[in-house]
Amino acid sequence: MAFTEERSITCPACGYERMEEVWMALDTITFPFKKWELLNRSMFRHKCLHCGHEFDMDHDFRYHQPESRELIWYVRSDEEEKEALDVLANGKRSGAWDEEERRMFDAVTDDYILRVVRSQKALIEKIMLFDRRRDDRIMEIVKILLINQTMQADPDLTMTGIYYNDDGDREGFVLVDQEKTIGTIPMQEALYEKIEKTFAPSLSPLQARGNYKVDFAWARSFLAGLDG
Ligand SMILES: [Zn+2]
Repeated sequence: MAFTEERSITCPACGYERMEEVWMALDTITFPFKKWELLNRSMFRHKCLHCGHEFDMDHDFRYHQPESRELIWYVRSDEEEKEALDVLANGKRSGAWDEEERRMFDAVTDDYILRVVRSQKALIEKIMLFDRRRDDRIMEIVKILLINQTMQADPDLTMTGIYYNDDGDREGFVLVDQEKTIGTIPMQEALYEKIEKTFAPSLSPLQARGNYKVDFAWARSFLAGLDG
């Protein structure tokens, strides 16, 4: 894997193709200054040298923050997800291990937070909320409640997602429809604390093995389990 790879990139607007260095993984101790480029997504942005069109590249990505013991793995398909879950749960890889990759996973100890995410937005969301010492499971439950509130207030709204956001100053939530931001909601501190107080006692530690996927589906099934 190494951290970067030479890849052939084709401009979606004009078809111009060229080889580019692409970041496939990031370790915040080896590359402390690259974290910012990941958070503002400029790491994935590419500008066509032929027509000037700007577009985002999409590929799997591994984020390792040894200081706070986090490893977050972005995958785009069920196949990649299966591989990621296999590596995290059993240390098994279908293909050969790359030396850098091996080093990254060898660093993982029992006190690591391990996550697999299915979008770049979710990857960035997790990095930001763990930096604020938030619990992503509590946040997913808060997000479900906020979706319900928002849809009740405006039943005609089309929304495809809600993401936690931290602009460095203030925490909050961004409502999106596909890639477009359609609204923001400030951080609901009282709600977060209430959910945390209610559910934290029944949740395992953040670092518990098996908690690899914490998303909307996780929160929905957690809440459904309470009803049953
Ligand atoms: Zn182009």
